[in-house]
Amino acid sequence: MAGKVYIVGAGPGAADLLTLRAARLLRAATIVLHDDLVPAEVLELCPASAQIVNVGKRCGRHSRSQEQINALMVWHARETEAQTIVRLKSGDPAVFGRLGEELDALRRAGVEFEIVPGVTAASAAAASAKITLTDRRAASALVVVTAHNCRNESLSKTVELARSTYALYMPGPDYSKTVQGLLEAGHESTTPCAVVSNAGRADEEVRYLTLGELASVKEIPAPAMLIVGEVAAERSPRKHEDLLSKISGEARDPYYHDKFPSHPCLG
Ligand code: SAH
Repeated sequence: MAGKVYIVGAGPGAADLLTLRAARLLRAATIVLHDDLVPAEVLELCPASAQIVNVGKRCGRHSRSQEQINALMVWHARETEAQTIVRLKSGDPAVFGRLGEELDALRRAGVEFEIVPGVTAASAAAASAKITLTDRRAASALVVVTAHNCRNESLSKTVELARSTYALYMPGPDYSKTVQGLLEAGHESTTPCAVVSNAGRADEEVRYLTLGELASVKEIPAPAMLIVGEVAAERSPRKHEDLLSKISGEARDPYYHDKFPSHPCLG
């Protein structure tokens, strides 16, 4: 039976800031592919039988390419006995975690997956600094932005509307008014969005729409979040070359050679 990949947020680096769901999955893991920022005390939750592999990509250290990481997840799910494959990423996997590429690879390979959110660094940092990110007397938006991006664009370009994702808390109940405001701010009515009710709960509901469509949708259950931006349109994998064919001899790794001599990536 094919394995399932759980993409799990490890939080900011303290084991007790891990979610219970993340801890449960780590205790059940067959294999854990983790990033560098994940601390040892989190990995200690894994059973002794679990195979733990650091696939971190920090500067100045031997590391795997994104394509190799994608291929490893797919390979473990499809070609080995592993049932619970945990891809453990720091903070929240969906915040600057290269999650998009990994989801593309899993979708493309038809591998079943689930995402487990984590406490993102912005929340942890605000707590440490005793700062209210959205103190209503001073701020009505929280901008999460990176000073580094893969296109080497300047920071001023990074924060452009068209390249930004907006996560709106309290978007209802009058969605037409919310849409109106977003259009006035410069969004197009064709801009994709996702409205998510009861996220992470058993009764969650997700609708993928455009802003134009959202304006006339009725009866969206609360509590809900509205996510606006091009990312909300990415529900099918982007085209890219075949994963496994991109893996070169550089992927040679003693761990995989010893354990899995037939590994297709290691040739
Ligand atoms: N997915 C992660 C972010 C990964 S990008 C998240 O949601 O938090 C890595 C960057 O996150 C680091 O360069 C640093 O800016 C920030 N970061 C991660 N853990 C942190 C911590 N414990 N304290 C402060 N910043 C942290």
